[in-house]
Amino acid sequence: MSKAFASQADLEDKKTTFEQLSPHCWAYTAEGDPNSGVIIGDKFIMVSDATATPAMAQDLIKQIRTVSDKPIKYVLLTHYHAVRVLGASAYLAEGATEVIASRGTYELIVERGAQDMQSEMERFPRLFRGADSVPGLTWPTMVIGDGKPGRQGSLEVDLGGVKVSIWHPGPGHTRGDTIAWVEEEKVLFSGDLVEYEAGVYTGDAQLEEWPATLEALRELKAEFIVPGRGEAMKGNADVNKALDYTQRWVTTLFQAGKEAAAAGMDLKTAMAHTRKSMDPVFGHVFIYEHCLPFDVSRAYDEAKGIKNPRIWTAERDKEMWAALQG
Ligand SMILES: [Zn+2]
Repeated sequence: MSKAFASQADLEDKKTTFEQLSPHCWAYTAEGDPNSGVIIGDKFIMVSDATATPAMAQDLIKQIRTVSDKPIKYVLLTHYHAVRVLGASAYLAEGATEVIASRGTYELIVERGAQDMQSEMERFPRLFRGADSVPGLTWPTMVIGDGKPGRQGSLEVDLGGVKVSIWHPGPGHTRGDTIAWVEEEKVLFSGDLVEYEAGVYTGDAQLEEWPATLEALRELKAEFIVPGRGEAMKGNADVNKALDYTQRWVTTLFQAGKEAAAAGMDLKTAMAHTRKSMDPVFGHVFIYEHCLPFDVSRAYDEAKGIKNPRIWTAERDKEMWAALQG
């Protein structure tokens, strides 16, 4: 039987949780829907990932206002995906002055932001219910380089009583992934580089390099992580559980893709081959059936030497879905 495209059959609202992790850090999580992070200083507030629409961002702003009346000055885009960036204008309307992204993310918005917006709106009708409130693509006002902390290209933001380090730890979920790290409280906001007990979307990923990037995050020895999807994790052992979960997904998927490419399988056969190793481990998690065909497509491409992920358009989405999930 064919499955409804992507998340089009997923119309049941998720319960959001706004939870304090440390003196200055909060997690806004949503039962497997895209998460956001909030860092509240004595002077300013930073939001990491803006939510899908300004309408949705209003809920997060409402939550923030239950604990602080400081200005929300900074919005960090951990990467370019529409479900995380298109809510940004709500914060700008509240007076935010800086939208921060990496150079890689900026380039991806230029290269494929418009196609991604169209494609994601069709993949996630529930998350884009307020899509008419989206004024267009979200453009960064501050573009950072690839530097590690303390080096040129990284950014340190002082929110008053709390400092946030922002840098690109390496390619993974996209080639522009950026993290926010509050060293003094050991809190990591990872975006989709790390997920927990939810689908790991890799349709635009750099699968070969992703595990090394996860190891770089492990070296931070975080005590808390707000992953891209899934609950916030507390304690270093549980942080590592999320890193291990993501690593296992990425390596299992890419291994199957490499085997399929080496054996000369077509994409549909590659999908069936990948299910053998992925379904038993991950088949139960939220958004698995949505992610898998996109993930297999990318793993197969990368295994065949396509370094820059092919751009997903609404049309390519549907053709692929019909071929693999139809
Ligand atoms: Zn993403």
